[in-house]
Amino acid sequence: MDKKTLAFQYVDMHKKEMIQLWEKMVCIDSSMGNKIGQTVIGQLCQTMLQKNGFVVKKIPYTKCGSAIIAERGNMKNPFILLMGHMDTVLTTYLYEGTPFTICEGKAYGSGVLDMKGGLVVLFFLIQALSAIGWDEIPMKIILDADEESNHLYSNVHDVIIKEAAGALCAFNFETGFTDHGLVVQRNGCRNFSIEVYGRSCHMGNDPENGCSAVIEMAHKIIEIEKLTDPSKHWWLNTGVISGGTVANSKPAYCKAIINLHYAKQEDLISVRKSVNTICNTVWISGTRTVWKEDVGYDVMKRTDGNIQLLRMAKRIAQENGFPIPYGKHCGGGSDAAYAVMANVPTLCAMGVEGARNHTNEEWADVNSLFIRTKQIIAMIVRLKGEFGTKYENS
Ligand SMILES: [Zn+2]
Repeated sequence: MDKKTLAFQYVDMHKKEMIQLWEKMVCIDSSMGNKIGQTVIGQLCQTMLQKNGFVVKKIPYTKCGSAIIAERGNMKNPFILLMGHMDTVLTTYLYEGTPFTICEGKAYGSGVLDMKGGLVVLFFLIQALSAIGWDEIPMKIILDADEESNHLYSNVHDVIIKEAAGALCAFNFETGFTDHGLVVQRNGCRNFSIEVYGRSCHMGNDPENGCSAVIEMAHKIIEIEKLTDPSKHWWLNTGVISGGTVANSKPAYCKAIINLHYAKQEDLISVRKSVNTICNTVWISGTRTVWKEDVGYDVMKRTDGNIQLLRMAKRIAQENGFPIPYGKHCGGGSDAAYAVMANVPTLCAMGVEGARNHTNEEWADVNSLFIRTKQIIAMIVRLKGEFGTKYENS
């Protein structure tokens, strides 16, 4: 029997264990801000990686769980990079008493899709490959616990760029889509926080002795939103605004948070410049504006390498009767951007398929847990002969 068939058998024989691990992971609350929970799931991942022969190193952070870098094999050779994040947006406590449920082929719970299901795929494909004695290509795993907060509390993006360098290819086990699309390109995103300081005055006694921070902000918002340009994939949105105290006093303060999604990394510089010009323009004299750029995700660039890997994924899916993927351009950011920045052909959204992540209606298709595990196993056992030239040249 060939190695792929043996590994598929392993998956078929361990479906119960896969679901059990899924439940165990979902029941650990590793939501944003919960460093203790993120540490607990990190320890679970560390133990499983060590059991499978990986050497694990951890990078600790003050305000979030450690990042995990695990290696197996001779890392001087090109390696396969498997990536994921262990944190979730929502807490498991939303689901009183039943953090994980399965009903009519769908699993529900915080992070069930984004992306604890993907972590189960990652761990069981490693286990299946270990069980059949496959060790043809070295492997590296990068897991972080600060993805959902856009790496606010860590330098994980730099860690990924550094650790990914030299990889033959990368798979990121992010949220999969029910249309079977695999992500080859992602937009970048940034938030801009703008604060306007004006001067308040009593509108009955002293109406001319103030300057409105709200009106100044209104001018700025209209100009900034005008930067939206669908032809360039520039999307700007004033998502949050607050200001003023009472209706009969001119507002002395106003704050707005503006979100930008953009498709080309170099465009960030142009948008930044325009936002800066608008923030430095004064419509209401006497007001003062400060602005800053918050953390965000860089663009996952569509590269020839990503497309080559996608072609292989399609071919493997066809041969094995799995749903045929297509190359998806996704609006939201992910850690895959940083693997691509390290010149590594990358496919993202390789995790379980489902929808409604980041909400309490998050669900994942249970069957996709097994199909995705097999899909990636089938790709990995064929990589050496079929993908890229790096490995053959080394
Ligand atoms: Zn995610």
